[in-house]
Formats: sequence, C-alpha cells, structure tokens
Amino acid sequence: MQSEPDRLFSRATFLASAGTLQEFPADGIREVAFVGRSNVGKSSAINALAGRRRLAFTAKAPGRTQTVNFYDLAGAARLVDLPGYGFARVSKSVREGWERLVGDYFGAGRPLAGVVVLMDARHPMTSHDERLLGWLNTFELRLLAVLTKSDKLSRSEGTVTLNRTRQNLAARCEETILFSSSSGAGVEQVRELLWRWVAAGSAAAANKRPPV
Ligand code: GDP
Repeated sequence: MQSEPDRLFSRATFLASAGTLQEFPADGIREVAFVGRSNVGKSSAINALAGRRRLAFTAKAPGRTQTVNFYDLAGAARLVDLPGYGFARVSKSVREGWERLVGDYFGAGRPLAGVVVLMDARHPMTSHDERLLGWLNTFELRLLAVLTKSDKLSRSEGTVTLNRTRQNLAARCEETILFSSSSGAGVEQVRELLWRWVAAGSAAAANKRPPV
C-alpha cells in the first residue's frame, strides 16, 4: 500500500509556467519551492519525487527563457520549480532576469510551506550556494538542504559529506538529506518531510478558522 506522502506526490501534475510576477497563481494554496544552481539536478529531483520521467524538463540549455513552473499536488499543495542560478557563461541580462524573477517570487509573500535548496553532493556549499542560503535566511523560511547526485559518491564519501554539511547548516536548515534521482536514495525521506510541511500548514490553517 502507498504511504500518504507517496500518494500525494504520485498525483503531481503540471499547472502553469510563469515568466512574470503577474502570472503567478493567486489562490493561496501552499507551496514548496525548489531552488539550486543550474544543472544541479533540480528537474530530475522533481521528477523522482513525483515518480515520473518527464513532469519537469531536464537538461535545458542554460540561458533559455526563464520561468517559474508550478506543479499541483492533488489541490492540497504545490511544488514550485524556480529557475536555476549560477550560470558561468550567460549574459548579464539573463542573470538580472533570474534575480528579478526569483526576487519577485520570494518578495511576493507567497504562501510558502518551505524551500528545498539543492546542492551537488560532490561539492556542496559553493559561494553561490552560500549567497543563496544567506539571502533565503532573511525571509525566515523553513529550509531543507538536498544533496543531489549522491550516486556519484562512495558510501563513505556520502556519509562524510552529509555529516559535514548537516553540521554546517544546523542553524539554518531543518534537515539535510543525501539524494539521488538515479538510485532513488533519499526520495522517500524528502517526500515524507515535505508532506509533513504541507500537512502542518493545513492543520495550522484549519485552526485559524473562526468558530462557527
Ligand atoms: P537542473 O538544471 O537542475 O534541472 O538539472 P537536471 O535535472 O536537468 O540534471 C542535469 C544533469 O544531471 C542531467 O544530465 C541529468 O541526467 C543529471 N542528473 C540529475 N540527477 C542526477 C542523479 O541523481 N545522478 C546522476 N548521476 N546524474 C543526475
């Protein structure tokens, strides 16, 4: 039998692609945002969580039109794929586009259950990652660090990286999880944590309803 988190994620469907603030959905459904360096494995991670091959598009060319992509989870919550950052070779205007779009997203007071920060398990905490984490901390959001492509590390390298990064982020992230879209490592753990974030939000929202 499927667990509740598995059931929720298996119902993910594409909802909308937005290139400007005005196009973001405005219905107040809680969101979990995914952010990370370009090519970190973000689209693959969203596909692995949903148990689908092509929900999010993988390996897009850097410098493509940047959009924020919204995925519906059975009307109960939403996954939000923010454009990747840290392109080495893109123009200033593309970088500025990223800052405007992602800045608009976080500055717009979205109903955020939390943010998943993806970093490559082979070299987490690059200067770009550090800057992003520092900036996200100013919003006082729940953060989960996901260390991608862990299949590229040996078991012992994975353990060392996980422990070091977890320690490093203890004050900033609720949890740090080793993850691989290829091997499936960490998929259940991430589903479970995000499901708790979303469920906690619904309970809080229910409690806030005025008594009838
Ligand atoms: P995005 O730009 O962050 O959305 O990254 P993608 O999901 O498109 O992945 C970038 C590249 O990394 C692709 O070539 C993927 O096949 C590869 N990739 C993604 N996840 C994994 C993983 O868990 N393990 C390995 N070995 N490669 C991965």
